[in-house]
Amino acid sequence: MRRKLISGNWKMNGILAANAALLEGIKAGVGQAKSEIAVCAPAPYLAQCQQLLSDTPIVWGAQDVSEHDAGAYTGEVSATMLTDFGCRFVILGHSERRAYHGESDALVGRKTVRALAHGLTPIVCVGETLEEREAGQTEAVVGRQLDAVLAAVGVAGLANIVVAYEPVWAIGTGKTATPQMAQDVHAFLRARMAEVDAAAAQGVRILYGGSMKPDNAAELLAMSDIDGGLIGGAALKADDFLSIIRAAG
Ligand code: PGA
Repeated sequence: MRRKLISGNWKMNGILAANAALLEGIKAGVGQAKSEIAVCAPAPYLAQCQQLLSDTPIVWGAQDVSEHDAGAYTGEVSATMLTDFGCRFVILGHSERRAYHGESDALVGRKTVRALAHGLTPIVCVGETLEEREAGQTEAVVGRQLDAVLAAVGVAGLANIVVAYEPVWAIGTGKTATPQMAQDVHAFLRARMAEVDAAAAQGVRILYGGSMKPDNAAELLAMSDIDGGLIGGAALKADDFLSIIRAAG
């Protein structure tokens, strides 16, 4: 059985005071959640997460990592730095990084290898644009994005990654994939991983992301291959995030 993972992706939102209120709200309401709960915060606030979440069941992570270990890479943040601040997870290859920072499939693969080497669990994002979906390219696109990561991490790495299916047209738009649309892509992704290692593929958690909200979370999370959520907007309000956690059971 795959334990569900509900992870917030705060993106470039929050300041100390707002984060503190949000984290206190989540801590107060999280109770005995069966799912694993994470928040992926902007790098400057990882110390705050460490301070406020260390003695709680909530874990934290970052939204990107450098492919390099250390050195003359101005502006970059290394995997060592993330583990220094207690990160468990790191989101990689988010569509916003692919689109606005030119991240290639190959770079996402290298970053995934780097994260694994430091004991971080990468949440590798894949997803098609609306244009690609309408052209019938969804499987070709997410398959290509996943293949680059599988080639980079090899059989040994597969069991240690989390995959997030995030259709680009559903991110921040209020448009959600129907549960069946998402399930179909999740099943495709799992089958693709099973070609590498069938047993490991059964254990890999595949999250859905893209306008997951309190009112649609339960039906998405009920699908057999949807193992959690990567949540943007609804992770910025404690009540919404807690509702999604409850919907996960
Ligand atoms: P959203 O973002 O929930 O605001 O659509 C999800 C994501 O981009 O991870």
